[in-house]
Amino acid sequence: MISTISVKDLHVSYFGKEAINGINLSIEPGNLVGIIGPNGAGKSTLLKAMLNLVPIDKGEIDIFGRTIIETRKNIAYVPQRSQIDWDFPIHVLDTVLIGTYPNLRIFNRPKKKDKEWAYECLKQVGMENFYNRQIGELSGGQQQRVFLARALAQKADVFFLDEPFVGIDITSEETIINLLKVLRDKGKSVIVVHHDLSKAKDYFDKLVLLNKELIHFGNVDEVLRPDVMIKAYERELSFLEEIGVKA
Ligand code: ADP
Ligand code: MG
Repeated sequence: MISTISVKDLHVSYFGKEAINGINLSIEPGNLVGIIGPNGAGKSTLLKAMLNLVPIDKGEIDIFGRTIIETRKNIAYVPQRSQIDWDFPIHVLDTVLIGTYPNLRIFNRPKKKDKEWAYECLKQVGMENFYNRQIGELSGGQQQRVFLARALAQKADVFFLDEPFVGIDITSEETIINLLKVLRDKGKSVIVVHHDLSKAKDYFDKLVLLNKELIHFGNVDEVLRPDVMIKAYERELSFLEEIGVKA
């Protein structure tokens, strides 16, 4: 079977400082995959490199056996909330409509069926009653649900989300994780940067444990073991000991 996503010997650096060092990964369709690791481990960088949003020093990334540029339309991306300009004046429905235009032909007038589809996607995240609000008026969880609706509107096969649960309410978190599981069950590939380890077991099928290098990639039970986790979180553990907290 062809892998959805194949990453080979990926290296990324910023101003000569290595952020990601020799990552190899192969992710099959129908998996909900979490990317975990300490702050600054390169989680967001890995996602951005897979999306061709940062230049890579070395390596190969194939999605459905093709380059990211050829398959871009098939890939939905929900960036970290902190990276989005929430003051940008745009309606909720228009935000979702952008998802129906992966070619960014946003100056074409959307057709009635596009609007209906965008509204349908808002319904799936429980945000249809907010369709004519400004995005900046919404709570963090509501904004995150609208961005997931935009990703759904794109009808992608691969979904990348960067820390979607940070700073959101529990209802939004449950809505989002349940939808991600539905996408997984439909055979989509869903890849989520995540740092709350307590939920990792309930949320994901597989985990990528990262700390610049790939520490481990495998089933959740295989990764969430103290002897594996300590390899990525060593610095944090020794810091905790220094300040007198037992891990
Ligand atoms: P994570 O998402 O795991 O917290 P990042 O991928 O954001 O980690 O960052 C990995 C490393 O690269 C960190 O040391 C960070 O400071 C650095 N970094 C990330 N983005 C940039 C950038 N645009 N310019 C310079 N350094 C960056
Ligand atoms: Mg990050």
